[in-house]
Amino acid sequence: MSESSTKPALPTVRDAHGNTRSVATLFELSRTGRQGVTLPPLDEGADETALMQSILPEGWQRKRPARLPEVSQLEMIRHYVNLSQLNHSIDNNFYPLGSCSMKYNPKICDWVGNQPAFNLVHPEVPQALAQGTLGALYTLQAYLKDLTGFCAVSLQPAAGAHGELAGMMMIRAYHQRQGNTARTEVLVPDSAHGTNPASAAMCGFDVVEIKSNERGLVDLNALRAALSDRTAAIMLTNPNTVGLFEEDILSITQMVHEAGGLCYYDGANLNAIMGRAKVAHMGFDVMHLNTHKTFATPHGGGGPGSGPVAANEKLEPFLPKPTVEQRPDGTYWLNHDRPDALGQLKLFYGNTEVLLRALAYLVCYGGDGLREVSEKAVLNANYLKARLKETYHEPFTQTCMHEFILTSRHQRADNKDINTMALAKRLMDYGFHPPTVYFPLIIPEIMMIEPTETESKETLDRFVQAMVQIADEAKTQPDLVLDAPHTTPVKRVDEVAAVKQLDLNYFANHAQGAGN
Ligand SMILES: *Cc1c(COP(=O)(O)O)cnc(C)c1O
Repeated sequence: MSESSTKPALPTVRDAHGNTRSVATLFELSRTGRQGVTLPPLDEGADETALMQSILPEGWQRKRPARLPEVSQLEMIRHYVNLSQLNHSIDNNFYPLGSCSMKYNPKICDWVGNQPAFNLVHPEVPQALAQGTLGALYTLQAYLKDLTGFCAVSLQPAAGAHGELAGMMMIRAYHQRQGNTARTEVLVPDSAHGTNPASAAMCGFDVVEIKSNERGLVDLNALRAALSDRTAAIMLTNPNTVGLFEEDILSITQMVHEAGGLCYYDGANLNAIMGRAKVAHMGFDVMHLNTHKTFATPHGGGGPGSGPVAANEKLEPFLPKPTVEQRPDGTYWLNHDRPDALGQLKLFYGNTEVLLRALAYLVCYGGDGLREVSEKAVLNANYLKARLKETYHEPFTQTCMHEFILTSRHQRADNKDINTMALAKRLMDYGFHPPTVYFPLIIPEIMMIEPTETESKETLDRFVQAMVQIADEAKTQPDLVLDAPHTTPVKRVDEVAAVKQLDLNYFANHAQGAGN
């Protein structure tokens, strides 16, 4: 198709500096015949079709060439660089997204994960030729056992939620093995992450919600009332999602065990306690770790994750296979020969590149370093909490762990149009990623702030300054807050229209005639 003057103008946006940037897709930029890379022609007389037929069997060949964008190399590179400039990332600015541990990603972890000796290994290569990778994964298993106090680890699951699913399947298998099919209920506190009840429900369990008390902790009376011979397990996050350590943790796990249930620990908040407390010592039977929260590879961009599961002797036989093991002669192998194990949850060895980054992180910090990480994460959160509590309402006044919650109650008392969403949007104009908002559901107008250990005092002070200034704006110039954000490429979106006129087909609706 020839270039036509009737093509719609390519879409652009203004970035935070007021510069115009293209957001056209590569298909819109495409022009027939343009190339990014020029390869020399095939030898004189070579028959491309015959060559293709000699490689691919008849039925597997395309009838038509693939519809790929045709762009120059420079256009392609600018396309991706432009898009990257429009995103907020941990490499741009502060990212206090509670429950997500958006700490920095040490570049050495990327370097390790990108080593050709690891990432050029074909997943089907014989194990004898993948000894380096297997050895690294074996070492990671050993470190995670040490850090959690559990006797066994499987690196299979692809994320925290996947680890929860594995844990719930293990618990179900355990009760079935005991001949106990009446244990159909899983207890989940009302502050839990949504993946907890979802994972339990996916395994066929009935979810029983446990109320939090007025101090934001599990209400022991509510727990006692919920326990019965139908209890299969409790799923608990500690410190919980409002950043509080469960003071009665030992009583909680003991009560559940006495009722014949098992205890699952959601490890998303491990950043608060690693090197200080071992999960197994709190009485839990099985847990997942979010390596992409606790050990580099922050996942805010929706990138790959990894959710290893760790278990005690009771549940170890059910861990997903394969696990990595070492022979007496020092060589490593993948053990698929575990008769009670859950099947394989992930292809090949798990998300190896994320696991290698986690190993690099653990090696770089070492035991004392990890303890310091959790101490500083808790210190930073308490510093922010102390500096913001004059301006914003604090539902819970105790010392927090690695994250804490505030609400917009004071600001709403002055102007009922102001809410937490508006304050969060305004924060974007100051260059910060907003904290997690409206989660957990137990507190209205909540914001959950997790600074992590890797932010400097100067950055934390800039954040405090912005938060205080926004509270002032909410009082004196409410429209500035209610219409925010003003400087981002995408301004305040119409959330009602987004639901009622959902439009997911960019090409059909916006790009008629684009491309070729
Ligand atoms: C992030 C998170 C999860 C889910 O983990 P993913 O790795 O995102 O699947 C579960 N529980 C809590 C408390 C979390 O913060």
